[in-house]
Amino acid sequence: MFIFKRVAHIQDWIQKRKAEGWNIGFVPTMGALHKGHLSLVEACKQNCDGTIVSIFVNPKQFNDKKDLVNYPRPIERDLKMLFESGVEVVFLPEVEDIYPPDSSTTIDFDPGVAATTMEGKFRPGHFSGMAEVVYRLLNITTPDCLYMGQKDFQQFSIIRKLISDFKLPINLELCPTIREESGLAMSSRNVRLSEQAREKAAMIYANLVEAKKSFQAGKSVEEIRAQFFAALIQEQFNPEYMEVVDGYTLAAVEQMNQAEQIVVCCAVFVEEVRLIDNMVLKGE
Ligand code: AMP
Repeated sequence: MFIFKRVAHIQDWIQKRKAEGWNIGFVPTMGALHKGHLSLVEACKQNCDGTIVSIFVNPKQFNDKKDLVNYPRPIERDLKMLFESGVEVVFLPEVEDIYPPDSSTTIDFDPGVAATTMEGKFRPGHFSGMAEVVYRLLNITTPDCLYMGQKDFQQFSIIRKLISDFKLPINLELCPTIREESGLAMSSRNVRLSEQAREKAAMIYANLVEAKKSFQAGKSVEEIRAQFFAALIQEQFNPEYMEVVDGYTLAAVEQMNQAEQIVVCCAVFVEEVRLIDNMVLKGE
């Protein structure tokens, strides 16, 4: 397994492999890897000749500096996991490699309504920072395929739009959310939960399942939201939002026939740890 820190080095490797006819797949991550990340690696390995995984905690997408400082960085463990899963290349850039101090070009990507709803509403600047880093990483790695998780559906939806807007020749694959046995979506943040809270946090998933049933049964979004909030507050959780949206535009929807893809998304604080999850209601 190659570990590249410098852009020129990884680009040299990519250029050589592409010249040999390799099909390159890319899995961007912020590290603190778990089985969710590894499922993306697995999907990538199945479809591509070479798998590149990047680990980069992107400062531009953290609106909360405390969250950035507290973000787990178990790099030795991550590298071991990637080695054991058989990836060809790990890209481990420094901030200066991605954002050269002498660069004056910024990307003015406006994700539209996506930037002002859900994660965009509660984490101002998050998606422009995320879109910029993904765009920069795609420029560096020029992959044929890009693998992203449904766990961060809004992020996926914004990158799907970015790829389509810029006509990038990249095949974007959405991989299903990997969950703990309890149903809790795997996340790098879960390690910050007490054992008891981690168990109880499975309620988020259970209530998304309830929301799905209610929506399919024709209940109003307002009613579903009230039910969702009440159930979580009863457990001393602090739900931030629960929205039913068009998977493409991320605009709110009220009925099943209003969009081709419909997703229910939520963010919930559990012991001050912010957890997000979602469920596709229509159009997997
Ligand atoms: P992160 O390191 O949190 O930025 O995530 C990197 C990639 O892994 C993103 O495409 C996430 O959507 C994906 N991912 C994170 N958690 C999971 C999960 N539980 N199941 C599937 N994919 C995930």
